[in-house]
Amino acid sequence: MGDQMANVTPMMAQYLEIKAAHPDAMLFYRMGDFYEMFFDDAVAAAEALDIALTKRGKHDDQDIPMCGVPVHAAEGYLLTLIRKGFRVAVCEQMESPAEAKKRGYKAVVKRDVVRLVTPGTLTEDSLLDARRHNFLAAFAEVRDESALAWVDISTGAFHVMPCAVIRMAPELARLTPKEVLLIDESPYRNTVEDGGAAVTELGKSAFDSTLGEKRLCDLYNVSSLDAFGSFTRAQVSAMAAVVEYLEITQKGNLPLLRPPVIEGEAANMQIDAATRKSLELTHAMGGGRAGSLLATIDQTVTAAGARLLERRLASPSRLLDTILARQEAVSYFAENSRLRDDMRDTLRGVHDIDRALSRLALDRAGPRDMTAIRNTLVQAEQIATLLPSDLPPFLSDSTRALIGHDELLDLLDHALVAEPPLLARDGGFIAPGYDGELDECRTLRDEGRSVIAAMQAEYAELAGVQSLKIKHNNVLGYFIETTATHAEKMMAPPLNETFIHRQTTANQIRFTTVKLSEIETKILNAGGRALEIEKQLFDSLRRTIVQKAGPIGVLARALAEFDVAAGLAHLAVTENWVCPTVDNSRAFDISGGRHPVVEQSLKKSGEPFVANDCALTDSNIWLLTGPNMAGKSTFLRQNALIAVLAQMGAWVPARAARIGLVSQIFSRVGASDDLARGRSTFMVEMVETAAILNQADDRALVILDEIGRGTATYDGLSIAWATLEHLHDVNRCRALFATHYHEMCQLADKLGGVNNATVSVKEWEGDVIFLHEVKRGTADRSYGVQVARLAGLPAAVVERAKVVLEALEKGEREGGTTQKALIDDLPLFASMAAAPAPAKVAEPSKVETRLNDVFPDDLTPKEALALLYELKELA
Ligand code: ADP
Repeated sequence: MGDQMANVTPMMAQYLEIKAAHPDAMLFYRMGDFYEMFFDDAVAAAEALDIALTKRGKHDDQDIPMCGVPVHAAEGYLLTLIRKGFRVAVCEQMESPAEAKKRGYKAVVKRDVVRLVTPGTLTEDSLLDARRHNFLAAFAEVRDESALAWVDISTGAFHVMPCAVIRMAPELARLTPKEVLLIDESPYRNTVEDGGAAVTELGKSAFDSTLGEKRLCDLYNVSSLDAFGSFTRAQVSAMAAVVEYLEITQKGNLPLLRPPVIEGEAANMQIDAATRKSLELTHAMGGGRAGSLLATIDQTVTAAGARLLERRLASPSRLLDTILARQEAVSYFAENSRLRDDMRDTLRGVHDIDRALSRLALDRAGPRDMTAIRNTLVQAEQIATLLPSDLPPFLSDSTRALIGHDELLDLLDHALVAEPPLLARDGGFIAPGYDGELDECRTLRDEGRSVIAAMQAEYAELAGVQSLKIKHNNVLGYFIETTATHAEKMMAPPLNETFIHRQTTANQIRFTTVKLSEIETKILNAGGRALEIEKQLFDSLRRTIVQKAGPIGVLARALAEFDVAAGLAHLAVTENWVCPTVDNSRAFDISGGRHPVVEQSLKKSGEPFVANDCALTDSNIWLLTGPNMAGKSTFLRQNALIAVLAQMGAWVPARAARIGLVSQIFSRVGASDDLARGRSTFMVEMVETAAILNQADDRALVILDEIGRGTATYDGLSIAWATLEHLHDVNRCRALFATHYHEMCQLADKLGGVNNATVSVKEWEGDVIFLHEVKRGTADRSYGVQVARLAGLPAAVVERAKVVLEALEKGEREGGTTQKALIDDLPLFASMAAAPAPAKVAEPSKVETRLNDVFPDDLTPKEALALLYELKELA
């Protein structure tokens, strides 16, 4: 860059140097009240933010593109850029222009990047979703071990777990991190990006486990990590990468990190990405929260409670003790409705202290983060007084965290006003009476103002000018102002001994006096000093609070636990749910089960939901047949959701339920398109089915909905058949299997563990009425034609379909009838009056013969194109 630098302005040279150190980020270059962007950054930002692109100066004889955003509105623009996939380096002025001038007439203000803003490292409320976590994760491999670590820097929660490569996608689907750190040239970039997170690659040294151990020990100020558990090298490596990245992005200003917690692989119910998607646990099909199970069950009243609820739902437990303890807490609140209501009312006054604390630790906080903590401590004390002493153990643990904060509460109570301003730099947040010197300065400053008012009256009298005013602006400070006509006598003796001329404007003359400038200095000094004292007090309060991060964090967790338990209890009582029996058996017995999300949406239209039983205890597989739209998918999913809810410790939508611990849940729906990945529908279906058959153990719960429908009938039937046999003989898991292949019902006779069930419908005057009742037995027919009619297929087509169906069924009954004979039997559109006489069935053409072998579902777009060329040639 040397030569180039020769003919650029000193400021541009500084810009280019800083930009060169952050090539991957958009550089927000602070200039006074704006962040400016230049060159390619400016072009990209102008487009992404829809702001005007201008120019400033020249570089290499070319105009330099520029655009800018005002500092006070920067957060909104940052959010847009982060959402659009940019990362932003925020470069601040490290000194005032006046300080720079002192160093030399032409010196450029010192600037430095103080922070890299990336999707995984946000802390500002305006950039975050209050009710969701914002995780940054790192995946590391050391020899044959691998691990995943993740952190939410907005709350300080830090976790790590062993994670085999094949478990990576499901774990990422569970955590939905916004950003994942991988080693340079990692082979897993696609896996991460498919899961929807941004990838950031770091060099080898960031992942080095030896260096990393030292980094972590320094961070926690311990001599060995053993204090927190015993970590594998891969785990240390993943955690170290996270910490290194935080140092890079926060420029050494490390956020508050809680000691790392190891999560065992066997602790959670395993749910892979496809299952999460199909069950719509925390995200609905469209990707949002609305319509998901989470949105339906969320009755929490605090942001931290909502985040804990999401974590619970995303990772239902597999540990009986944990489940029962959580259940006990929910049941306690379900049974004590007064206490529950009081608890929820009090919790509404609780703030998001996790996030406030994290901003305090990063020195990005304002006075309101402090009052958030103070007000929450008050609420916590109040909650403690609500609670009786005979609580279940799980809740009494949390109760202990509520009290013992008197010292901090006392301090904050005395130090802070009730409703402080947003920014510390404006002052006015320290309460009167807390600091003697501050009070003195404030009095002086305020008194000064009344002295000025008195002075105005005095000078008006002295000069005999009633309209004389004392005003203030940033250039002159305080001054006396009057019109030109009145000013004449003030500039003549004897008044000119008192009034000193300062400035003449178009119609006003401005003066000062010795006394006025003395008072001004005093006011300014007092005001400035008051601000300075407040700033120091803010810093010292900040340090005190951060020192108490441990107990405050425990308190935050306890409040979230109360919120989740009381919220789930409220839901259980208002929605008429029941406490399930969870045990170590292999039972799965649900009476009167309902689908919470479908039930809620039906409620809006005033329709009742039909409750259904499901018993997989004696025979572990139910084969479900019934027409489309009867409610098969709903039934399948409601049972999976009930298992998830039971193992997160909640009550469930049923009349009674007994569930033996479920280790894994798999849910697949046949034939969903995934063209984006270039796989045909059928291929996706088979890959996903294979994953189940290879992984499901005898404690798994498997839900298969219309597997095999993505291919020709006999192929599909055979695959569905063989899959069911495999689940029964090899996996030996509990399973619900919905199919429209009625032929499979014979399997129940052959396989001891398979039961037939059907969703009943009634036929009335040629129409089908859905009863949504699941009962033992097989469907008598599929009613496809009737359903088609309901869907609005033209009457002629429905009539024709009926004729074809009857003929086909007749042929099947009589056996051995070939398709060709059937076609001969059935005149085309015979029922339509104007239909022409049937044409004789001709020999198939070459094109037709070739087409008979083609299953479009199996084709990639490329193969389809090749086929088109081939057909063109045959024609
Ligand atoms: P299928 O899988 O058999 O095609 P779905 O499960 O998709 O049918 O259900 C179709 C519709 O029927 C649902 O959208 C819902 O509105 C309604 N439905 C399903 N089950 C019930 C039920 N148990 N009670 C009331 N309505 C139901």
